[in-house]
Amino acid sequence: MATRFENGIVVTLGEKNQVYWDATVVTDGENIAGVGKVADMKLRFPNADSVDCQGKIILPGFICTHHHFYSTMARGMSIPGEPASNFVEILERLWWKVDRALDDEAITLSAQMPLIDCIRNGTTTVIDHHASPAMRDGSLDLIENAVRQAGIRASLCYEVSDRNVMGGGLTENKRFIHKVGKGDGQIAAMMGMHASFTLSDQTIEECVDIAREAGVGCHIHVAEDAADRADALAKYQMPTVNRLNKLGVTGEKSIFVHCVHVDEQEMDILAATHTSVVHNPESNMNNAVGVTPLLKLLQKGVLVGLGTDGMGSDMLAQMRCAYLLHRLANHDPRVAFVEAPQLLLQNNAAIAHKQFGLKLGEIAEGLPADLAIIDYQPPTPLDENNFLGHLIFGLVDATVDTTVCKGKILMRGKQILSMDEARLAARSRELAPKMWKRLQQLP
Ligand SMILES: [Zn+2]
Repeated sequence: MATRFENGIVVTLGEKNQVYWDATVVTDGENIAGVGKVADMKLRFPNADSVDCQGKIILPGFICTHHHFYSTMARGMSIPGEPASNFVEILERLWWKVDRALDDEAITLSAQMPLIDCIRNGTTTVIDHHASPAMRDGSLDLIENAVRQAGIRASLCYEVSDRNVMGGGLTENKRFIHKVGKGDGQIAAMMGMHASFTLSDQTIEECVDIAREAGVGCHIHVAEDAADRADALAKYQMPTVNRLNKLGVTGEKSIFVHCVHVDEQEMDILAATHTSVVHNPESNMNNAVGVTPLLKLLQKGVLVGLGTDGMGSDMLAQMRCAYLLHRLANHDPRVAFVEAPQLLLQNNAAIAHKQFGLKLGEIAEGLPADLAIIDYQPPTPLDENNFLGHLIFGLVDATVDTTVCKGKILMRGKQILSMDEARLAARSRELAPKMWKRLQQLP
């Protein structure tokens, strides 16, 4: 069934970004069937359903290239003892306990709640990184079910690490990669790996073999903290990226998350191997690990995308954080105005293309019907030439009204349609304290 989303301001993005006022986007099935003037689209698609956008902005759905759905249950939890004073302590005291306390219902709910948040924020594609050592086998199926119910797209993986047992997670990740195969455009799979400092050569080689055989990329945290770099230098006499490259983890489908502590020759390796990097500014600031050399990475030709690292699902907020952070960090008010939106709008689409084989992030006839319709009345003229100004200073604070993915309306008038938000949130509040209790008892 076709639907006309009419009377909006359409921002097509893509290579030739166009802004059309008083315009309509028509979806038919999972794709966009037409974009143009309200009257023209009415003539071409007279029998389509109609949704009046009342002057709102129609953008392609946003993409998050690094998320941890499972982090949701930690919100508001108190951690006994002294506050963690560095990154490794944050992992040991918080995240490596949260993941061990997840059971099957907690996994499902801790995916459903951020999925609702994605829909609320117009985020229609996510690349997630999951861990739940106490309920490992089948965990990715639980998340897949939640994603399908929510109606957005997700690439999933299980975080392989030697920190609990050697090669922990390998079987679950391998099983899921084989199950998903080439994917159906909604669910894709990657080989998830924690980080160099919790992975032996042997386990990394096993991961790389599975990924190569299946033709998928590796999704791994790289040099997030100085500790990861120091570990690689001490144990293997080379920096993190060199070690991972030697073991075959780099490659055009692979995602190296963070890359805060990398030197210039490591950046050259990333560029030469076409490995993508995902920048997560809010998370880096929250963990006080340092500032990714974003401008240098881009200058070197590295494809850098933008993720939230589980901090949330609002990609516009993340984009603005990147914009502010790199202005301050470079002491230069001339930078990041183009680069921060580029990570979100172009580079995330390029990274998603490698995972899903779909051209996302653009509104054009024949492309996937993923839309974020935002409640924003521009106070000044808006066109192709000044769109970034509206994006950074206006749209970032506006709310998403309607979210569409694969042609299906997932939220309309700020009401989530694909999931029962109130019921799920109530159940999640009931379950979280039980999980916190299990967590406190862990050694
Ligand atoms: Zn992460």
